Amino acid sequence: MAATGLYSNFVHSAPGSFIAKQAGLPVPPTLRRYKPSEPALPGPVLLGGAGRVVEPLREILTSPDYDVIQNATTGRSADKYGALVFDATGITSPAELRELFEFFAPNMRSLAPSARFLVIGTTPELISDPNEHVAQRALEGFTRSVGKELQKGATVQLVYVSPDAKTGLTGLESTIRFVLSAKSAFVDAQVIRVGADDAKAPADWDKPLAGKVAVVTGAARGIGATIAEVLARDGAHVIAADVPQAGEALSETANRIKGTAFPLDVTADDAGTKLAEHALERHGGIDIIVNNAGITRDKLLANMDASRWDAVIGVNLIAPQRLVNDLLEKGALREGGSVVDVSSIAGIAGNRGQTNYGASKAGVIGLVDTYAPILAEKGITINAVAPGFIETKMTAAIPVATREAGRLMSSLQQGGQTVDVAETVAYFASPASSAITGNVVRVCGQGFLGA
Ligand code: NAD
Repeated sequence: MAATGLYSNFVHSAPGSFIAKQAGLPVPPTLRRYKPSEPALPGPVLLGGAGRVVEPLREILTSPDYDVIQNATTGRSADKYGALVFDATGITSPAELRELFEFFAPNMRSLAPSARFLVIGTTPELISDPNEHVAQRALEGFTRSVGKELQKGATVQLVYVSPDAKTGLTGLESTIRFVLSAKSAFVDAQVIRVGADDAKAPADWDKPLAGKVAVVTGAARGIGATIAEVLARDGAHVIAADVPQAGEALSETANRIKGTAFPLDVTADDAGTKLAEHALERHGGIDIIVNNAGITRDKLLANMDASRWDAVIGVNLIAPQRLVNDLLEKGALREGGSVVDVSSIAGIAGNRGQTNYGASKAGVIGLVDTYAPILAEKGITINAVAPGFIETKMTAAIPVATREAGRLMSSLQQGGQTVDVAETVAYFASPASSAITGNVVRVCGQGFLGA
């Protein structure tokens, strides 16, 4: 899917692309997005490093979905790699960081469009040896910097694995499959922490949510509608919830995915109870809840009125917390389930005119932090996605100059699509991601705001 926007349309037009070339203007790359019939990657995987992860990694990558080359110097090599994957868990001192340079630098010019870089390390906070801790922490700066150098839609991620993960590292597979695929098209330079727990692989990686019941709030349009579609594509029965006024649009979403339309104002006192009763009666419970419903009521703080403040905090922060509390209290959220909250870059970087919104979205990150250990006792995960600039009605309302700047101010030089957020939600929601909790992943093309 080609990037959209005034500037992007111009540089992709025949005269525009000529002018862009002459003037050396950046041309937003066309990102490769997931299609079930297409290979996971645009070329073979070069695997390097010598830590505790390389063997389990090779095992995961022996799937017919991947073509692995172990070593470019002694074995087979390729002109264009689909991914460079480096097991950095063996790096135990700053001097050994040189291995990163030795692996990646010679291959920077041998990448297929939309290639993937993946660095796997050990969670620094859980390492007791000072040298190793420092070296592992350094991986983050490497990742974030190389992300700013990659071109043509290539992305990089850093995955930290708990030092206590068992030899098979089954908890890691869902993350590897997400990162090393077109599903992570707009996720760039992110750090994902994988816990020590083992995870069970689904019978079919194309239907990881088969048999699961998912609730998506704010599902009538925008990001929520696409989340509902992607969860249904992955096999879930989706209860699509939105305000009663969204009636027709909500029915359309639900019909498209053979799900249930459930009119629900998430701020209503009885929202959680109604949802829990419906889910228990019809489906015996809920496995996945996606708190996506959100609003903006922008004003500079000097001009802010209490109703704007209250509305935004009410929908974006109080409702998600209360909904989860109510579902737990009624025993409607099943063991092994997952909560996925939708935060925002504004909750990380802050945004002029959005003190209410920024507070609500930072609060959502607080929900993830504080509920992760509480929910872990019930075998439930909680994670958040923090979208950057995503092409929706919400962003279409932004004044044109700010909108163009918002699109271009990221390593991928474009806005994301709603499907980019939805794919990340589906990754967190998968039972195969049971070792992943307490994470906030930005879906922002490595946006420069708050970077
Ligand atoms: P949108 O306005 O297109 O859709 C939001 C949906 O939530 C609407 O269908 C709306 O009816 C519903 N909703 C609002 N109040 C509700 C309530 N009280 N109860 C139930 N449903 C309610 O917005 P979007 O762009 O699709 O955003 C979805 C989420 O993503 C929001 O949480 C938003 O803050 C977040 N987000 C969006 C962007 C972006 O670039 N579009 C960036 C960062 C974060």
